[in-house]
Amino acid sequence: MVWVVALIVLVGGWGSVAVGEDSSSLSILVVRMRVIVLRGSPGRAPIVGGDDAGAREVIRHQIEVANQVMSQCYIQVESSDEVDIVIADPPGPCLLSVGEKYGLPSSGGEVRLMIDGGKLGPWNIAGDLTPEQTARVLFRYIENAGFRPELTVGIRGPADAFARADLLVRGGEGTPAEIRRWPHESLTTDSMQSIDIGIVRLDDGLESYGVNEINMGTLEERTLIRALSSKEPGTVEIFIVNRFEGSHKQGESFIASPAGTLGDTAILDWRALGRARTAYTFAHELGHLLLGDLSHPDSRGDRRTWLLMHSRASSAVGGPRRITEEQCVRMRARLEEMGSMF
Ligand SMILES: [Zn+2]
Repeated sequence: MVWVVALIVLVGGWGSVAVGEDSSSLSILVVRMRVIVLRGSPGRAPIVGGDDAGAREVIRHQIEVANQVMSQCYIQVESSDEVDIVIADPPGPCLLSVGEKYGLPSSGGEVRLMIDGGKLGPWNIAGDLTPEQTARVLFRYIENAGFRPELTVGIRGPADAFARADLLVRGGEGTPAEIRRWPHESLTTDSMQSIDIGIVRLDDGLESYGVNEINMGTLEERTLIRALSSKEPGTVEIFIVNRFEGSHKQGESFIASPAGTLGDTAILDWRALGRARTAYTFAHELGHLLLGDLSHPDSRGDRRTWLLMHSRASSAVGGPRRITEEQCVRMRARLEEMGSMF
C-alpha cells in the first residue's frame, strides 16, 4: 500500500483522512503521554527551562517536533495542553531491592532498617528464600509497621540466580517514605542475599543500564520510575534527567514485554532535548516504545541514516525523520492495542 494522501488538518481539529488507493479511512491515533522533568536536586530548578513554566514550554516544543515526525504514520501525541507535565524532585531513598547482587537466595539473617526515622526490626529472614520470597516477608513486616509497600518482581538477568524484587515504600499519604539503615548496622546480616536501598542522585548523573539490566533497569532507574510513575495503563511516560552517568547515552527506553517491568517508559537527558531537530531523539525513543523494539536498523546492516530509528544521527539536512511503512503499521497496531483511538 502506498500512502499518497498528505496529512490533512481539518478546521476545528484532527479528523479522519482517507489513505491510499482503497477507500478505507485511517484515523489519527493519539499517544497518551506523561512527561516528568526532574529537578537537579530537591527544591532546585528543573533540569531544563530555568523554572517550572520554562520546563513545560521546552516539553511542549519537543512534543510539537515529535508530532511533525509522527505525522507520516498518522500518529500524534495528544495535544500539548493535555499532556501531563510534572516537575519533580529526584526521589529520595524509598526503595528496597532484594537480590540486587546476582539475584542470590538467602542464607538466613536479620534485617534492620529505619522508615521515616523510626527503627524497625530486627526481622528474621529464613534461609533458601528467593529474592521475591524475602521481599514478601519484608512486605508484611513493613505493612504491619503502618507503611504501604509496593512489590514488583523484576526479571531474571542473564547472569542472575533468580529475579530480583523491589519494594517501594510509601507513607500514609502515599508519598514515598524515607528508608535508612540503623546507625552503625548493615541492612541485613545475610552473607549471601543482598538488600540495597535505591535513591536517585543526579549530581553524578543517572546510572544507566548495562547488558545485564537491559529490561529491568539499574537500581537508580527503577527507583526513579517506580516512585514517580503514574502507572496508568495506555500512557507512555518520558522522564527528563540531566545526564547518564559515565555514558554517551542520551536516551533509554523500556518497552512493555513479558521480560520488562518498566514498560512504555523512556528516559532522556537534556542533550537529547537540545538536539530536537538534528537527532530527533524524543521521537526516536517514542519510536522504540511504540515499536516495542529496542534494536536499530543499522544493527542489521541498514545504512539509511535518515531513518528515525537509526542509532546514529544523520548529517543529512533535516536529520533522521523517515519511518518505514512497515514500522508505521507496527506502531499503529501497538497504539490500537493500548486503546488510544482518538
Ligand atoms: Zn535507539
